[in-house]
Amino acid sequence: MTERAAYDLVLYVFLASAVLTFPVLFFVTAPYGRHARVGWGPTMNATLGWVLMEAPSPLVFFACWWGSASRGTGPAMVFLALWMTHYVNRAFVFPFRRRPGAREMPVLIAGLSLLFNLVNAWLNGRGLFHFEAPLGDAWLGDPRFVLGVALFCGGFALNLHADRVLARLRKPGDTAYHIPRGGLYRWVSSPNYLGEILEWTGFALATWSLPALGFALWTVANLAPRARSHHAWYRATFPDYPVERRALVPFLW
Ligand code: NDP
Repeated sequence: MTERAAYDLVLYVFLASAVLTFPVLFFVTAPYGRHARVGWGPTMNATLGWVLMEAPSPLVFFACWWGSASRGTGPAMVFLALWMTHYVNRAFVFPFRRRPGAREMPVLIAGLSLLFNLVNAWLNGRGLFHFEAPLGDAWLGDPRFVLGVALFCGGFALNLHADRVLARLRKPGDTAYHIPRGGLYRWVSSPNYLGEILEWTGFALATWSLPALGFALWTVANLAPRARSHHAWYRATFPDYPVERRALVPFLW
C-alpha cells in the first residue's frame, strides 16, 4: 500500500471515529484529573505525561512543513505559525504552569493521547503540505481564511487565559479544587475547552481541509462531554456554585 492510500484510509477512519466517540464520552469520562479512578492500569507523573503525549505534534507537523515544496507560501507559513503557537504552549509551557493535583495520570491516557497526536499531526501536516493542492497567496484574502484565523486567535487567547486562571487557583502544595472566577468563567465552567474548540474550528475553516475538520470534530467529541462532566461535578461539589454558569456555551448549555 502506498503512503497516499494509507493516508486516505486513516483519514476516513479518523473522521468516522470522531463522530462515533462523541456519544460514547457522554457515558465514559476519561479517567484523569478530577475524574481519575481506579481500574485504568498503572499511572505516571502527569507533568511528564503532558510533555510526552503533546510533544510529537509540533515535531511531526514541523517536519512535514520543512519537507514541503510549498513551505514558502503565505498560507503554509500561517498554518505552521498557528499550529506551533498552540503546541509549543501545550507541550512545553502548559505542563509546567499547571499546579499538579493529587492524582497521577493513567499511562493508558498518555499512550492513547500520544497515538492520537501522532496520527493527527501526520494527517494535518502531510495533507496540508503534500497531498492537498497548495493554497496560493490569494487564499490570504479569502473570507474563510480571515474568519478562521480570527477564530483561532480568539480561541487561543481564551484557552490560555482560562488555563492560567485555573493554575492560579492553587497555592504551591495545594491540590484541592476551588471555584474559578473571572473572564468567561462568569458564564461557563470550562472556557478553556470552549477556547480549544474555537481554535480548531477556526483552523479547519482557515485551511478548508478534511484532516483539520477531523481534528475539530475530535476536539468537540473529547471536550463537550468532559465539559458536561466538569459542570455536573462542580454543581455537586460546591453548594454555592454560580447558578447562571453553564457547562460550555454561555446562556445555552
Ligand atoms: P482541566 O480544566 O480539567 O484542568 C486543567 C488544570 O487545571 C489541571 O491541572 C487541573 O488540576 C486544574 N484545575 C482544573 N479545575 C480546577 C479547579 N476548580 N481548582 C483547581 N485546579 C483546577 O483541563 P484538562 O486537564 O482536561 O485539559 C488541559 C488543557 O488541554 C485544556 O486547555 C484543554 O483545552 C486541552 N485539551 C485538549 C484536548 C483536545 O482534544 N484538543 C483534549 C484534552 C485537553 P487536576 O489535574 O488536579 O484536575
